[in-house]
Amino acid sequence: MRAAEWDSVRRVCERDPFAQKRLNSPWDVPWPWCFACGVWMDSAHIQSRQHQRKLEARELQRQMEAASSGGDFGHRGRATKV
Ligand SMILES: [Zn+2]
Repeated sequence: MRAAEWDSVRRVCERDPFAQKRLNSPWDVPWPWCFACGVWMDSAHIQSRQHQRKLEARELQRQMEAASSGGDFGHRGRATKV
C-alpha cells in the first residue's frame, strides 16, 4: 500500500463507525479493519454497496433508537439524545 493511499483511507476510516484499527495487518502497518463486513478496509470497500448498506442500516437504527429513547412522542421530528 502506498503512503498516499494509507493517508486517504485513514482519513475516511476515522469517520467510519465500523473501522477498527489493527496493528497486525498483512501490509506491516496499522490498518483499519471493518468489523461489520469482516474485511480489511480500503477506499474501494468503503464505497462498496455492501458496506454502504451496513452504514445505512446502522444510521437508520440510530435514528430509531434516538426517537424511541427520546421518549417524547408528542413532538414530531428528530429527538436528540441528552
Ligand atoms: Zn465494511
